[in-house]
Amino acid sequence: MKEVILCKYGEVILKGANRSDFEAKMLKQLRQRARRIGNYNVFYSQSTVYIEPLDDESIDRIDDMVYQAKHVFGFVGVSRAFACKKDMNEILEVIKNHLPERLKGYKTFKAEAKRSDKKFPMKSPDIAAEVGGAILASVPKIKVDIHNPDVIVRVEIRDKEAFIHAGQEKGAGGIPYGCSGRGLLLLSGGIDSPVAGYMMAKRGVQLEAIHFESFPYTSERAKEKVLDLAKILTNYTMRLRVHVVSLTKIQELLRDNCEEEYFTLLLRRYMMAISLKLAHKYDCEAIITGESLGQVASQTMKAINVTNSMSDIPIFRPLIGMDKEEIIQISRKIGAFETSVLPYEDCCTVFTPRHPRTRPELDKVIEQENKLDFNALVEEAFETKETIVVKCFGDNKIEM
Ligand code: ATP
Ligand code: MG
Repeated sequence: MKEVILCKYGEVILKGANRSDFEAKMLKQLRQRARRIGNYNVFYSQSTVYIEPLDDESIDRIDDMVYQAKHVFGFVGVSRAFACKKDMNEILEVIKNHLPERLKGYKTFKAEAKRSDKKFPMKSPDIAAEVGGAILASVPKIKVDIHNPDVIVRVEIRDKEAFIHAGQEKGAGGIPYGCSGRGLLLLSGGIDSPVAGYMMAKRGVQLEAIHFESFPYTSERAKEKVLDLAKILTNYTMRLRVHVVSLTKIQELLRDNCEEEYFTLLLRRYMMAISLKLAHKYDCEAIITGESLGQVASQTMKAINVTNSMSDIPIFRPLIGMDKEEIIQISRKIGAFETSVLPYEDCCTVFTPRHPRTRPELDKVIEQENKLDFNALVEEAFETKETIVVKCFGDNKIEM
């Protein structure tokens, strides 16, 4: 039996003149992934991308390919479909022989039909009715539920063939990765920043990441954890460059020279300045953070303004209005949560003030900042940068 994967477009359909650019990116990303899994023909027709296995091994790995397709932004639905001739008898044969296996465990279903080929002799409601009858006859105990079915069985009569599938899976949604420019993600080992990166990637932003460490106050294992989180993001992005920058010297100088209640804010300004420098170097047009209003002292409106005012490019904070619970839900969905909650220290938790400023005045912060040579320290920290290319397929690579 011939099986294919059908990937359905999401909001890309609404695009006008630049739709073809979007489609080209989505196809390219599917093809890149398909090459790593097996031998597949990936092509587009009638607002759907088809992934056709070309040999037995690729048929065996079709579920792995479905998994890959579900991580390509721009598609809203992915399904494994049986393909057959556009002939009602053949369609019913496929249903009888193959659907009982697919519908195992479902109690109710609904049959739907879509006829893009208007020359097909039956109308959609009639096709659906016949298909429904065939399922009732061949799948034990299953019942029809038009309003709230456990599974929808779809028959599509398209230009060359008919397709039958049950239980379309949700695609990644969003718009194609790389269609919205580049953004620099401030990636910590926490729950929030990987989610923030995922959310912007979903809106088409190609990610570059920066992570700040404070060795030996933070451990090698803490850095590994961040690279593990980056790896999880590459499920969506395929690859992700992570620049690791050391803040050790800056943190020690802050500790020895500045008032404790300003430590975090001052540190965040250094982080922002170094990030901006990196963003400009790598053509990133925005900075992305996992900040959420009021979550901690450094995320009050006033505290956010202390770092915001330094930036000459937009800072995207996709989690700004979200509760922790909502963030955790997405973290679990993208498979990051278990890694994020591993207990390793972050540079922000080194020398944390006992009573941080929640309503800082910018001039007071700058007064503290002026106790050190800010620009020189930023330059020096920047020079500690180590760049690791994290890949979805294959091992990480250090970039020289
Ligand atoms: P997260 O869960 O992402 O660690 P958080 O709630 O712990 O966030 P903060 O520590 O205040 O919040 O950090 C706010 C944001 O600053 C993070 O979401 C992240 O974007 C950035 N950030 C914090 N620490 C680091 C770090 N060590 N390296 C890079 N970015 C960081
Ligand atoms: Mg953190």
